[in-house]
Order: sequence, then C-alpha cells, then structure tokens
Amino acid sequence: MTTVSVLASPSRYVQGKNAIAELGTHLKGLGRKPLLVADDIVWGLVETSLSAGFRAEDLPVTRVGFGRFTTPAAVDALVEKIRSGEHDVIVGVGGGSAIDAAKAAGHLAGVRWASVPTAASSDAPTSALSVIYTEEGEFIEYRFFPRNPDLVLIDTQLVAGAPARFLVGGIGDALATWIEARATERGQGTAMAGGRPTRAGTALARLSWDILWENALPALDAVRAGVVTPALEAVVEANTLLSGLGFESGGLAAAHAIHNGLTAAPQTHGLTHGEKVNIGSVTQLVLEGAPTQEIEDFIVFTTRVGLPNTLTEVGLSPQDTKELQAVAEAATAAGETIHNLPFPVTAEDVVAALVVVEGLARRVRAEHGLPEPVKYVAQH
Ligand SMILES: [Zn+2]
Repeated sequence: MTTVSVLASPSRYVQGKNAIAELGTHLKGLGRKPLLVADDIVWGLVETSLSAGFRAEDLPVTRVGFGRFTTPAAVDALVEKIRSGEHDVIVGVGGGSAIDAAKAAGHLAGVRWASVPTAASSDAPTSALSVIYTEEGEFIEYRFFPRNPDLVLIDTQLVAGAPARFLVGGIGDALATWIEARATERGQGTAMAGGRPTRAGTALARLSWDILWENALPALDAVRAGVVTPALEAVVEANTLLSGLGFESGGLAAAHAIHNGLTAAPQTHGLTHGEKVNIGSVTQLVLEGAPTQEIEDFIVFTTRVGLPNTLTEVGLSPQDTKELQAVAEAATAAGETIHNLPFPVTAEDVVAALVVVEGLARRVRAEHGLPEPVKYVAQH
C-alpha cells in the first residue's frame, strides 16, 4: 500500500484583470526565447496587450497556431518547433487543448512551460499532466510530467469576455473535484500526483466547492455582462487554481472516469469537458448512494448553472444500451480513477447509475419548476 502523500503545484499563480499585459514580466525569469501556442481567435484577443508587455521586457514575440485537440501529432509538431527555433520556454495560451499540448511538448523537448488560460473552462492549466485525445476527440491517455507549469497566468478580463458556456464548463469540472477528492480520501485511493491525497489537496477541493455554491450564479451574470466582479474573481480562482490543486493532490474518482468513457460516444462530441464531467458527478453520487437531499440539491444547482445532468442533454438516452455499456466499460477499465471509490465498481453498476440519472434528474427538475432537458445533437 502507498504510504506517501504528494502536493504538486505550479511555481507561481497570477490572476487578475488585465494580467495578460504582465505576462512578459513573469516570463522573463523562465526564458529569453518563448514560443507562444495560440489559435487565431485567441491570438486576436491577446496580441496587442501581450506584445506590449513583451516589448517592455525585451522578449521576442513568436507565435504558432493550434488545432482543436491535444493529439500525439500536435504535441510532436510543437516539439519540432521548439527545437528548430531554439526556444527555452513554451507558453500555452487559450483553452485546455493548447495548454495541454504546450505542457506535453515542453516536457518532451526539455524546456520550461507556462499556462495562460483565456477562459476558466477547466482545471487543466495548473497540473503536471496532459490529457491526450484522438483527432475525433476521444480520450487516449493521461501523460504525467515530473513538474507542474512554472507559471500559470489568468487574465480575468479575458474570462469575462469569453462565452459564458466556457465558465459553465469550468464550474462543472470544479464541482466534481470535491465529489471525487472526498471519495478518494474516504477509500484507499491515490491522487494524480501519486500517493495518498494530502490534507491540503482535499481541503482545497472543498474550498473550491464552497466558493462555487456561493458565487457561481453571480459570476455567470458578470460574464454575461462582460465585466469582472469579486464573484467572478472568486470563481476563476476556484475553477483554475483550487480545483487544479484539489484534483491533482486530492484525487479523481468516478466523475472523470465516466467523462472519459463518454468521450467514446460520438453523440457527446462538441460538448465541453465540464459538461461531460457533470454527468459523471451526478452518476457518481448515485453510485455512492449519496443522501437523497444532496443529490437533489446538486441537480437543482447544476441546472441553474446551465450544466447538463441528464443523458438527454449529452445526446444519449436510457435506451442506448450499447453506448451506455461502452461508456461504462471504458469508465471501469483497469487503472481508471473510478477505482478510487471506497467500494468495488463494475460496468454493470455504472450502466445502472447512468440509466437512473435520467428519470431522477427529470423528476427533481419538475418538482422545482426547472426546465425539462433539451436533447443535445452533436454537429458532425
Ligand atoms: Zn477535469
């Protein structure tokens, strides 16, 4: 049995309105020849203030574009760019994919790496791991690195200007963190950082949860208005820093394993990471036999936030026996984090929980006067 505990964290975390203008200042201690990874849309948003900050620090601005998913080929292409351009630090700017690709490439090329998320859409930016997908967006593997990013910088004005759906996804990802860390702590599970969860990791997962219940709805109001408020600052920290430290050093369990299983169902393609994770969270609560009130509160709250909590909203139905079986088998594969639950879980258990979630969430929503779920149709 593992007896050590590990806390993994980035060396520096910087958050605030217009923080992007200070990226050069925080980066210059890490390298003199940065390679920025950002798609065209993200680059259009950050180029002016980022470049001014780089000029002030005498840093060259070199940017490479990025596709949709963190695929093995995309990572290898970035490694080649780092080598041919002799870059000493790689900076992932934008969503989770560019950031995960930059981390994986920085590790392979042996240079430092930094994360600059432009939305608070997942907790990927702080961690020492990347999730690798196929060209179609199906989960392939986790890649683990010996170091976290040297720098994570998030500009809350950019978050306020990003689509509200991105923040909704980040909230779904961060809510799962406490549900999963709690289960890992209760059982004999291991955290992603290795070893048993640290008390710090578990406590930060809980803090993230508490902040979200208090601030998620007003933070979404702020994003819809395009402005930064204290509630938005709190949620950005919960989604990015606290959830990141909480999942990595507190442990993942069923919610993310079920997310990984859902990526194999083409019906779910196009949904955000956090949207799929939320189905995993509700399913985990059912699998655990969590108190009825707790499950109902979670359904009511996540419906208000705008997260899916029925199969319908991720393009599936309880009658999709074949798909649900495939999701459950992937979720319960050997080595998956679902086995951090403090009891044995089979694919059959997961199918049963997934099937129950549909009727349960529909009933709770109806009882609270909340809208019926709308069928999600993946765009191909
Ligand atoms: Zn996640």
